Amino acid sequence: MPIDLNDQPRIALGHWPTPLEDCPRLSEALGGPRILVKRDDVNGLGAGGNKLRKLEFLLGAALADGADTIITFGAVQTNHGRQTAAACARLGLRCELVLTKAVPMSGAAYEQSGNILLDGLYGANVHLCADGDESVAAYERIVETAAAEGRKTATLPVGGSNAVGVLGYVAAVAELRAQLGDLHVDRIVVAVGSAGTAAGLAAGISLSDWPVQLNGACISHTVAESEADIRRLVDETGALLGTPIANLGHVLLDDSAVGPGYGVPTPQMWDALRLFARTEGITLDPVYSGKAAASLVEAVGTGAIGADETIVFVHTGGLPGLFAYAPELVRLSEIPE
Ligand SMILES: *Cc1c(COP(=O)(O)O)cnc(C)c1O
Repeated sequence: MPIDLNDQPRIALGHWPTPLEDCPRLSEALGGPRILVKRDDVNGLGAGGNKLRKLEFLLGAALADGADTIITFGAVQTNHGRQTAAACARLGLRCELVLTKAVPMSGAAYEQSGNILLDGLYGANVHLCADGDESVAAYERIVETAAAEGRKTATLPVGGSNAVGVLGYVAAVAELRAQLGDLHVDRIVVAVGSAGTAAGLAAGISLSDWPVQLNGACISHTVAESEADIRRLVDETGALLGTPIANLGHVLLDDSAVGPGYGVPTPQMWDALRLFARTEGITLDPVYSGKAAASLVEAVGTGAIGADETIVFVHTGGLPGLFAYAPELVRLSEIPE
């Protein structure tokens, strides 16, 4: 059944379709599977990334609702916050970012460079909070101030992951299938954080009866938690579209690449990040796409992904975050003394 999203409010923000690139040197280095990279990292606005697809629908709905102030949440180096800040700049909306110290990283690079540097550059108001209690208090203060000033707020969830945001990746499935034409794909590989991206891909695959597997690489939660998140988001999206989506048998999750935790680098992640960089000139990020790539490399190594398969790796972006981790890359002697 064709998926009709035309009734959903949407505001154009990115460059579509994003490139789909064959990566022969990466495939050769991995000893087999043909890898195509879906370049959602280069979709234009605000240094790019996967949140832009969600924001087209989230901000479309917010504008339809008359909002002039957008509030959202994330970790200090949230890519979602940075892309929301850029989109708000483009649309002339006020952007309030409530950021919580959720990752055991400190120092000038992590606290002042990368995404958080861009948040300020794009004109967002950044509210830095030590923990959950502080962020609740900050949120309440922002809402009260907006009300007192006669502004109308719209609050977006962490990662932009609700049914409306998920529509961005339902639409991406149609875009990808049009690009692929007759080319058979066995598997799509993507990072799973707040799970909206994977939920959108899963829903789009299911709604279009596409016989492809979706491999989700968890980067913060366990398989069980991510499975529940995806199920809930897919159900909510089905309800929004008036089309129940029962089948998620094509979704396969793996949390082996998380390592010690969200945002904490692993040796396998750095290896995978180097591999993409040195074979294809593609820059992954240490928090999401790098760990998804590590999961891919691992699965090819164990034979869970066959050498004869054709894979689409969804590059979800996150480049600014790499610079937050620059000191660690320098220590790993990436930069000559
Ligand atoms: C947010 C993000 C993800 C994860 O997407 P979710 O929809 O939150 O699962 C993956 N990669 C990058 C670079 C991100 O910023």
